[in-house]
Amino acid sequence: MSKEIDLESSYLKLPPVFYQRVQAASFPEASLLLFNESLALELGFPYQNYSAEELTSIFSGKTLLKGSTPIALAYAGFQFGHPVASLGDGRALLLGELKGFDIQLKGSGVTPFSRRGDGLSALGPVIREYIVSEAMNRLGIPTTRALCALRSGEEVYRQFGEEPGGIFTRVAPSHIRVGTFQYFAFKNDIDSITKLLNYTLERHYPEHLNLSSMAERAMALLKSFAQRQGELIAKWSGVGFIHGVMNTDNCALGGFTIDYGPCAFLDEFKFYKVFSSIDERGRYSFFNQVPIIQWNVLRLADTLLPLIDANESQAIKKVEQELIPLLENFTELRTREFARKLGINEFVQEDTLIVTEFLEYLEKESLDFTLSFRNLPSLYNDTNIFYPKTKELDSFVTKWKQRVQSVEHLDSINPIYIPRNHLVQKAIELSYQGDMSFCKKLLTVLDSPFQEREEYKEFSLPPLQQERVERTFCGT
Ligand code: AMP
Ligand code: MG
Repeated sequence: MSKEIDLESSYLKLPPVFYQRVQAASFPEASLLLFNESLALELGFPYQNYSAEELTSIFSGKTLLKGSTPIALAYAGFQFGHPVASLGDGRALLLGELKGFDIQLKGSGVTPFSRRGDGLSALGPVIREYIVSEAMNRLGIPTTRALCALRSGEEVYRQFGEEPGGIFTRVAPSHIRVGTFQYFAFKNDIDSITKLLNYTLERHYPEHLNLSSMAERAMALLKSFAQRQGELIAKWSGVGFIHGVMNTDNCALGGFTIDYGPCAFLDEFKFYKVFSSIDERGRYSFFNQVPIIQWNVLRLADTLLPLIDANESQAIKKVEQELIPLLENFTELRTREFARKLGINEFVQEDTLIVTEFLEYLEKESLDFTLSFRNLPSLYNDTNIFYPKTKELDSFVTKWKQRVQSVEHLDSINPIYIPRNHLVQKAIELSYQGDMSFCKKLLTVLDSPFQEREEYKEFSLPPLQQERVERTFCGT
């Protein structure tokens, strides 16, 4: 077995308060279910040199690659708006980095941050994260990636009883969260916040490293982070993605999607759609994702105030002047994304009305979100058999046609295949029975989400009544 691979660990250079060293639990019966060969190649990981048994041993944490010192990271977070001073990787383990990307196991056993949890993961969330994160990547949305899924060979006990366990290998540009900053803010540890700020710039915003003062660096980080998050939510909105649990500990400083817990995609369009069983008040509903991300960015700002100005009211004033205008632009970023999906290339403010009219029409008619955008060319070319003819549709079409020059390119913007909830659910159910073939086929379909293929027809269709997924669960 070639062992030329060498993991780095930049996180280990941070002070020990940032993490805890951990060993994975033992999973003698673990087996390999999915392995992402193309991602392995991108990372320079020579997977061909390893047998399935060896890969299983590596990605269950038993065999350590050269240079690997497994650690669980410390972080805090605001969960559903409530502060929790200590969360941390309760069931995750950072093995190290390859080409600057974190290689992390999820579900590999308890850590000092497990609290009352078992440190394990059920197989369902592993399969969901694998499918959805890879699909998001193909849809052009910044995200963590999926390298490997294992069956752990053990049972875990969850809400609905016993389930097979799973171990997931996640690849991420980093695991720095808003909650990581909050962990030190809760302790009033300004020195660690300063170190974390510099580390975050090195990994995600090196263009700001030329700024010499910490005040400038903090403001620059806030603004760049806000910009990326605003764009991310716009992209989520464009594919009907509902994250479901946008707590600050699930909000990555690199501005990509992380932690696919109770996430789901819209079937029929509804502005304030909620799937997550624990989101009783709709805090993380589809259209609430903009105000929530604004709130999360401000929570990061809270932690950086002491670096921005020793005088807190001066620091707040600076944030209000420089950051708030960026946050206020998030709604427009989302509207622009919908306009782009409608084929409106040169956005002007009046187009907001066209977007709103279209979305209100979709909601009123309970139309499938994905197909409603995909079928737009037929509406433009007067060959429509998809959209119910109503006065609202007429009103929209009249205005829309004046603003669209061409719909030729729309099939490369509006996907036909997304990881629909019922398809993911079916993949999970079959995987529980030991059958991975549907899951693998779904991954193949989602690999090219914009290209229609006759033989994949069933993957483009909304769920039948009996297939509908109404509720999603964290499953942790
Ligand atoms: P999540 O809902 O996945 O974002 O997790 C929130 C927090 O709960 C994180 O600190 C996790 O590490 C922790 N956690 C979730 N599931 C488990 C588990 N099964 N065992 C231990 N900790 C967990
Ligand atoms: Mg999380």
